[in-house]
Amino acid sequence: ETLAPEIRQLTSKRSQVLGESYRLFYRNPVHLVRGQGQYLWDKAGNQYLDMYNNVASIGHCHPAVVEAVHQQMMQLNTHTRYLHESILAYSDRILATMPAEIDRAMYMCTGSEANDLAIRIAQCWSGGTGIIVSKEAYHGTSALTSGVSPALGSGQPLSPHTRLVAPPDFYRIQTADQGAWFAQQIQQQIDDMRAQGIKFAGFLADSIFSSDGVLPGQPGFLKQAIDVVHQNGGIFIADEVQPGFARTGEAFWGFARHGIVPDVVTTGKPMGNGIPVSGLMAKAPVLAAFSDALPYFNTFGGNPVSMAAAHAVLDVIEQEGLQAHSLHTGAALLAALQELQATYPCIGEVRGAGLFIGFELVKDRESKQPDKALALDLVEALREAFVLTSVAGPYGNVLKIRPPLCFQTQDIDWVVSAMDRCLRKLTG
Ligand code: PMP
Repeated sequence: ETLAPEIRQLTSKRSQVLGESYRLFYRNPVHLVRGQGQYLWDKAGNQYLDMYNNVASIGHCHPAVVEAVHQQMMQLNTHTRYLHESILAYSDRILATMPAEIDRAMYMCTGSEANDLAIRIAQCWSGGTGIIVSKEAYHGTSALTSGVSPALGSGQPLSPHTRLVAPPDFYRIQTADQGAWFAQQIQQQIDDMRAQGIKFAGFLADSIFSSDGVLPGQPGFLKQAIDVVHQNGGIFIADEVQPGFARTGEAFWGFARHGIVPDVVTTGKPMGNGIPVSGLMAKAPVLAAFSDALPYFNTFGGNPVSMAAAHAVLDVIEQEGLQAHSLHTGAALLAALQELQATYPCIGEVRGAGLFIGFELVKDRESKQPDKALALDLVEALREAFVLTSVAGPYGNVLKIRPPLCFQTQDIDWVVSAMDRCLRKLTG
């Protein structure tokens, strides 16, 4: 396949000037120049349906965020060592969405920084070092967080104090009691740490297990596991970078789907709809050991412009009813994608919560053997049909379907008919 001259030129310029760790999506890379709502446009004027972006979560270039950021940028932007109302008002608002025990907020710019701080807090509080994460977890780019991110692959050594728990892949694991099964996996890892003289500090998880292949499980199944974490003197850190801010529909936060109270919550991506802002919310007593020992200052974290964006995001989620919208539109999209299973035996399972869907491709439904090659070809074919998605999971065979929350019922036709055409071409 030959690339358009302009794409070839940009691709080769990238490889000349950018660090080589960067990875582009697609054999035929996409050059985007404009976004609005759930749509994107490339340089040639083609319109795409964005089925992947949870950063521009309330929609690309949402006018409320653009306006709020613009106004604040003209007024003042500086760090958090001076008084400012906006960070306080935002903290009141965000803490009001969480259980009452979670009563403190801190701000950073990325999910990595939030998780990095959360791990340090867990270690300070427990006096231990051991952290449990899921087998294909991704929690960030810093030394500490990449040490708990097996998704980075074998090139990334994990911390010797990291333990990996089997993900809740209830498509393959048949169990009558999801909660008991997962709690037992956690207990095993804690026991293993103890046997090796490592003190347990905490369990860090994204409650929809997105990099493990989008594994929502039954609402509530995490509860028993979190009880085990607490009984063993550790804390639970809910990484809400993926499921947070109304994404899963049933609740504003992913952890709330499970009726659990985390000790620390970390946020990122959708919080500022593209403005880099992230947060860490925690129970005051859990923060105390860290705060007593160390100061924390994050130059850009929680500045007035970031807070203006974050306020606007909450306003829009409320005003546009995006949580209920995510629930209903997500259910309709899920049902429409599941209908394709009648035609294509390669679709093993379609599962999800709200507008966060995993579409799992298998060689056959008996063996459930993952079909990574088909998943990759499908992502490429969808791109040529102007629908943007990507893959997740340990086998790379699960399409991650996660559009901006303003995705509409009328967009379902576009995705489902594109899927149908692409699958027919690839498997017919
Ligand atoms: N946690 C999860 C669950 C994530 O998906 C990501 C980013 N993909 C991060 C943390 C890291 O966030 P950031 O890239 O903003 O540092």
